[in-house]
Amino acid sequence: MKIPRQVIQSLSEWGQVRENELLKNYTTFKTGGPADVLVAPMSNRSISHIVTIAAENQVPLTVIGGGSNLLVGDYGIEGVVLWLCENGGRKAAMSVLEDGTLYADAMTVKENFISYAVDAGFSGVAFMAGIPGCIGGGIMMNAGTFMGTFSEIVKDVDIVDQNGDDRTVAIDRARTSYRNMNIGAGNIITGARFVLERTDDREGELNKMREVLADRGKKHPLDYPSAGSVFKNPDGHSSWKLINDAGLKGAAIGGASVSELHTNFIINLNNATSQDIRDLISKIRETVYQKFGIELETEVKMMGAFERP
Ligand SMILES: Cc1cc2nc3c(=O)[nH]c(=O)nc-3n(C[C@H](O)[C@H](O)[C@H](O)COP(=O)(O)OP(=O)(O)OC[C@H]3O[C@@H](n4cnc5c(N)ncnc54)[C@H](O)[C@@H]3O)c2cc1C
Repeated sequence: MKIPRQVIQSLSEWGQVRENELLKNYTTFKTGGPADVLVAPMSNRSISHIVTIAAENQVPLTVIGGGSNLLVGDYGIEGVVLWLCENGGRKAAMSVLEDGTLYADAMTVKENFISYAVDAGFSGVAFMAGIPGCIGGGIMMNAGTFMGTFSEIVKDVDIVDQNGDDRTVAIDRARTSYRNMNIGAGNIITGARFVLERTDDREGELNKMREVLADRGKKHPLDYPSAGSVFKNPDGHSSWKLINDAGLKGAAIGGASVSELHTNFIINLNNATSQDIRDLISKIRETVYQKFGIELETEVKMMGAFERP
């Protein structure tokens, strides 16, 4: 889509703007076509201005964080892509508030959040070790492992809605679910407060993380680009086992392949396109359904155009 020059000019007053920016450089799959315009906001306050400019000019707006749970179409994303993950330019803010909660900007890289929390004497963040991406994406996805999830530690989030209005929303754990924080479509998280236990055993916390990272290093195909687990686990089943038992270990389409190490990971083995990955996802879903009558649901979020517009 052609975004009028004056709109790009207005956006650039509130953030760093990159036109026709290839999103494969912003996703951990290392695939995905261009964003018409990618904007890295100058500050949290500038986010509502960017949303308002896009809305007033009927330009669609899409939010991405670290791109570690995304499959972006080969023909890219139309309109504005708001990039909310720490980058070379702006550094995220974190602080311990008077009430003892920990505040972090949504753009905080998880790894930095973990270090900050542990150094400030908190525990309960070890589950995040090795989960890539940024805090906003982690909250939106209610990311986690068997050790814990974001919904267990987030108290409230600051959001900007589709009209550009901002407010703070308390997290009601009863309304959250597996990989879903129920924040509401179109709402952009700009920051969050966390309730964490205190500990004086910093070394113990660091050891927990080291163990988690070592274990993940053995189980996950970290030498290849991926987006982690592609499918959610259906009730009472493990997706990796269903895929494995369906005989799909190592199955490949184009440059995309089912990991031999962890069959719920699709890896970009050899210059895969997003279409290769999407086709492989379809093949896995069809095969598992034919063999076991179980419908796999993707955990990975697909966005943008997969067909030439
Ligand atoms: C090697 C590997 C291992 C992984 N292991 C795990 C794991 O153990 N557990 C797990 O749960 N996940 C795992 N993942 C998936 C992924 O890392 C998590 O879902 C992560 O939290 C996504 O964060 P992100 O910043 O990359 O979000 P993105 O992938 O950029 O975005 C994910 C979704 O959140 C939305 N979003 C992002 N930021 C915001 C924001 N500020 N406001 C509103 N919406 C936003 C996006 O629009 C999109 O819908 C893994 C991925 C990889 C590559």
